[in-house]
Amino acid sequence: MILLDGAAVAQRIRERVRGEAADLARRGVTPFLRVLLVGENPASMSYVSSKTRSAEEAGMAAETVRLPADAPPEALLAEVSRANADPAVHGILVQLPLPKSHDSARVLDAIDPKKDVDGFHPENVGRLQQGRPRFVPCTPAGIVELIDAYEVPLAGRRAVVLGRSDIVGKPMAALLLARDATVTVCHSKTRDLAALCREADLLVAAIGRPGFVTRDFVREGAAVVDVGINRLTSLEEAPDGLRRSERLQRILVEKGRALVGDVDFDDVAPVAGYLTPVPGGVGPLTVAVLLSNTIKAATLLADIN
Ligand code: NDP
Repeated sequence: MILLDGAAVAQRIRERVRGEAADLARRGVTPFLRVLLVGENPASMSYVSSKTRSAEEAGMAAETVRLPADAPPEALLAEVSRANADPAVHGILVQLPLPKSHDSARVLDAIDPKKDVDGFHPENVGRLQQGRPRFVPCTPAGIVELIDAYEVPLAGRRAVVLGRSDIVGKPMAALLLARDATVTVCHSKTRDLAALCREADLLVAAIGRPGFVTRDFVREGAAVVDVGINRLTSLEEAPDGLRRSERLQRILVEKGRALVGDVDFDDVAPVAGYLTPVPGGVGPLTVAVLLSNTIKAATLLADIN
């Protein structure tokens, strides 16, 4: 089994981005990412600080505008308008999920599609579906970079995407289709899930269920990409298979919490041809592509190229 080292591929993207940011700076443009964060969800706060820190490390400007959890929807929409109108801001990201009082679709629709570095605006979603992408959602775009870095073939192969969210599953399927894979998208109503997944040359798991994908889902030699990020604080939260993992037991004893993917790594590793770890697989790629999208936004808006 070949470990798909997302952290290493992400590092290479970040180095490329740093060079591009320096080129833009020489032309008088400092790529600027503005993140809008509502509330104090600990996972969101940690993602946001990692995004802004990484942007700064790559030579860009980054800023987080924080609104309280009980901020009215109009206050968030006003911040989106302010960022749209500010010529210094190139990329706008609204950290999801938003508190229930906000209508995410309305907020994402309000972002200027030319600053939509997450690629969730309907115009950018439509462009991706039509095969003329502008901003592509960061996680699936990062997965394609990872697959390409390891020269995993896609054209003509069977790809199964487990999960149909707007953030991961659907754009992942569109990207794989654009690369001539034969794509099946599965979800919570799919019947014979394991058998369908076993047909895959490439299996992308994005469902948010710890250790759900076991070796019964994986064809010998298949490439398996684990998008899931699940936070566990006790073994009781894990399914039976994961509970037997000595690595997980040790981490929980040492730290009192652990991050696990949607794939039972130890169970799948002996059959998979390629496999991503969690952490250190898809996660770092998401941030690296966000930086790359911000460079693209700055280039587009500054009318360079
Ligand atoms: P969502 O909750 O939006 O979507 C989950 C999808 O999985 C849905 O389509 C759902 O089906 C499907 N699903 C849930 N349970 C099952 C099941 N038992 N069998 C089959 N399908 C199922 O999740 P996201 O796409 O936003 O995220 C998925 C995972 O990826 C999460 O762990 C998240 O934390 C992680 N993630 C990681 C990122 C990274 O950078 N590495 C970035 C984004 C997400 P249905 O539509 O029928 O409800």
